[in-house]
Amino acid sequence: MSDAPDLFDAESRALLAARLAFDDAASPPGMHRHALGELLTSYERLLRETRRMVRRSDRAELEMNQLNQRLQDLTGQLEYRATHDPLTGVLNRAAIIERSNRYLASDSLALIVLDIDHFKRVNDSFGHPVGDTVICGVVDCLKGVAPSIAQIGRVGGEEFTALLPGLSLESAAHAAEGMRRAIASHDFQLPDGSRVTASFGVSWQERGSSFDAAYGSADEALYQAKRAGRNQVARAAMAVA
Ligand code: GH3
Ligand code: MG
Ligand code: MG
Repeated sequence: MSDAPDLFDAESRALLAARLAFDDAASPPGMHRHALGELLTSYERLLRETRRMVRRSDRAELEMNQLNQRLQDLTGQLEYRATHDPLTGVLNRAAIIERSNRYLASDSLALIVLDIDHFKRVNDSFGHPVGDTVICGVVDCLKGVAPSIAQIGRVGGEEFTALLPGLSLESAAHAAEGMRRAIASHDFQLPDGSRVTASFGVSWQERGSSFDAAYGSADEALYQAKRAGRNQVARAAMAVA
């Protein structure tokens, strides 16, 4: 048996007294009245306490809902920060790797990698903040022309990737050509009026391959594009089974 005090001790006693008075028809009217008075007092207290507890539980439920909402918001923010590049808002390298491998588990993947040409010159001539503006401008160009299924990411300082799950090498190279043209024709408003260009490498991997293989061969193609004079798209040789 628990020794904890009964919270409703006073009410139980009032109830018992009322029960005795009620059951004993011979008990004097004064005893009835006294029992009824005790019962009233107890009932009023119970009502007060119940209302107070309902109010408190409503408040607790509201606070819990607010905390839950805050927790969900923070989880969303944390997930966003873990997967996105803070400067441009596109996917970061880790997210690109994770998505590439996820796509490749169930489908083929075309991957475009691009690197801004002579970007050091932009930084050296006009400063890092202008360089950052160019990086954001390049991302805007990519978003403006990329097919809707494309997942765009920033995988290095001035190097970007577009994942095109299920697309052929041919279609991906066509998409890359559109991106190249969009950048080359965009006015980045550099102080000397110069233009910005980028070089592209495109690869295609069949289902079951990995990000490393897809990125490695696109990167090789990118360097062919650089060596061949920049501002162009190069395709990786398709692996022969
Ligand atoms: P290439 O045509 O061969 O690609 O020449 P490049 O000058 O672009 O060569 P490289 O790729 O070596 O230079 C990249 C430069 O990008 C070097 C680095 O200072 C700059 N960079 C990297 N991250 C950032 C960034 O977040 N902001 C800015 N403004 N510059 C960056
Ligand atoms: Mg680079
Ligand atoms: Mg570069």
